[in-house]
Amino acid sequence: MPNECDVLIIGAGPAGLMLGCWLARLGVKARIIDERPAKITRGHADGVQCRTIEIFQSFGMAERIQKEGNELSEVVFYNPDKHGNLVPTSRIPDTQPDTSRFRHVVLNQGRIEDFLIDCMNADGLKVERSISPVSLEFADDAMAGRPIAVKLAHLVPAVDGSDPASGLYRSNIISNEPGLPSSVSKTEEINVKYVVGCDGARSWTRKQLGFSLEGDSANIYWGVMDARPITNLPDVRVKVVLHSADAGSLLIVPRERNLVRFYIQMGTLQPGEKLDAKTQSAEKIIESARRILAPYTLECPEIEWWSVYEIGQRICKTVSFKNRVFLAGDAFHTHSPKAGQGMNVSMMDSYNLGWKLAAAVKGTANPSILETYGAERVEVARQLIEFDHKFSRLFSGKPAVAESEGISMEEFQAMWVRMEKWTSGTGVKYAPSLIVADTSPAKRDLAQNIIIGSHFESQMVLCYADAHATQFADRLVSNGRWRLIIFAGNVANPDQLQRVADLCDRLTHDVESPIKKYTPPNADLNSVIEVLTLTSSPRRALPYSAFPELTRPLVGKFRYPTYDQIFSDEVSYLDGGGAAYAGYGVDPTGPGCVVLVRPDQYVADVLEFSRCVESLALFFDAFMMMGGAL
Ligand code: FAD
Repeated sequence: MPNECDVLIIGAGPAGLMLGCWLARLGVKARIIDERPAKITRGHADGVQCRTIEIFQSFGMAERIQKEGNELSEVVFYNPDKHGNLVPTSRIPDTQPDTSRFRHVVLNQGRIEDFLIDCMNADGLKVERSISPVSLEFADDAMAGRPIAVKLAHLVPAVDGSDPASGLYRSNIISNEPGLPSSVSKTEEINVKYVVGCDGARSWTRKQLGFSLEGDSANIYWGVMDARPITNLPDVRVKVVLHSADAGSLLIVPRERNLVRFYIQMGTLQPGEKLDAKTQSAEKIIESARRILAPYTLECPEIEWWSVYEIGQRICKTVSFKNRVFLAGDAFHTHSPKAGQGMNVSMMDSYNLGWKLAAAVKGTANPSILETYGAERVEVARQLIEFDHKFSRLFSGKPAVAESEGISMEEFQAMWVRMEKWTSGTGVKYAPSLIVADTSPAKRDLAQNIIIGSHFESQMVLCYADAHATQFADRLVSNGRWRLIIFAGNVANPDQLQRVADLCDRLTHDVESPIKKYTPPNADLNSVIEVLTLTSSPRRALPYSAFPELTRPLVGKFRYPTYDQIFSDEVSYLDGGGAAYAGYGVDPTGPGCVVLVRPDQYVADVLEFSRCVESLALFFDAFMMMGGAL
């Protein structure tokens, strides 16, 4: 029955679709609805940050972004010289070295949504369009554990007469979206366990909960357009951050298909003043761009999409109700788009929520795990709002030229570089909680560059069985499993090999071991907590068959041995490598350590061999449940 589902996702933008991918992948009965008859095809977000691509990789679809998107290499800053003339003052890499194994890419939000939809469809979940919720209530009768009653209206799509090149209909300068379906063909009532409002900045779900966005507006408005420009600005195919002496600022982002995204400062507003959408046009945006770029010229014979937006930062600090209804994405944080954060952070929200929700629905974890969602993501949203508040005001400010008052361009550029890791998404760090252990100097000594609460970074390693060079983090696919990464050290040394064997023996057989306790009796040994092993000794030092069975378990109906869970830190024939222990800060000749990684690739703990089983037991017993469905 289509209306028998456990999770209802309201809204199929980036946040809703990412959640749909997770839930479908993990076999959760979910529905995802959207009031619009079709997804967006033009405009909106285009910056895909490194951490987002890492997550797409974990779902097996990063290649599609890399193939179609435009990878950015350089940022050039144009500022006025002491005579007020625009000159390039510095050039920096767009992605700072060591940020990620991936680089920042730009690609239309519509294509990102396509990839998510394909991924979700492959796992059997489809977006149901022209449906919007009418009411949300907690049923008196708990309806077989599905306590939330939602009434849905099936809508008849109205003919949308708006200009497809205009994005004003979803801009924040107007409060009502024209062209939305207006008549209802039928209604239905469903009962669900969980509802997630991924329904954007004007979230219906947020309003049902009585929550509101708080924040302010900078009273500045900007235009945005995707065009194929003709210009004599020499740097139009790299990212340009430009402050003119007194005509405003501009950001240029070269895109796929020879498009260029322009963000153009247009003007100021009186407090409380709203822009009249009817007075906005692509021509006005181009006029402003010409004033800022002068003496460089600009013609835009082909404009694919344009819009106008007002700068503001707003946040809703409560994102869950009774641990049953959640908000994700723009539904709880909105800000200006120039730092390329909204779509990325929105997807990161639901990526954080998805595996926890699946574990709660399937009964493998106590629903209390869901409390960590708000704690982790509201803090990220708070940092985002704080960053954007400073960043957008520095971006819109008049630069200090010669003796005049204004924004220091050095300060602006320093902030840009300082925040790069954070804006790439790789700098996010979650605080200690039920699923992130406390850190300590002793833990830091075990693995100096592995930070508890941060995502597990990648290093090139060599697959023990087939000598393929592999990015280690590529093994952390999104399949809901926890990972124990054993830094086994030099297993050519018999004493060290014995220590690894003893550890694996205890992890396999001790009654308190979470692998023993939470892996269902007939399931594969790696199906709840998967063990990955990295040796510092080379492959030839020890035959594959000499490793303990836990590190190369037999899986599936025919008990096939796995060949992709053991790796060595040595130089590959063609693709480098041999620096993983150094990169992770683990002593290659030392006693080794164990790193516990969450299903979303965040490091939950770093442990020494000797206390590993006891510590893991304490950690998992706090929230794991036996007898859930895998
Ligand atoms: P949305 O994308 O708004 O999706 C919400 C969905 O919910 C929509 O499909 C909507 O139809 C549906 N919905 C709403 N109400 C209901 C309802 N009552 N019932 C059913 N369905 C409903 N972000 C970046 O990361 N990088 C960028 O480079 C970037 N550039 C941007 C440039 C511009 C010009 C703009 C406007 C935005 C940009 N953003 C960028 C921000 C980004 O587009 C948003 O942050 C992102 O789309 C938020 O995703 P979401 O899924 O939370 O919400």
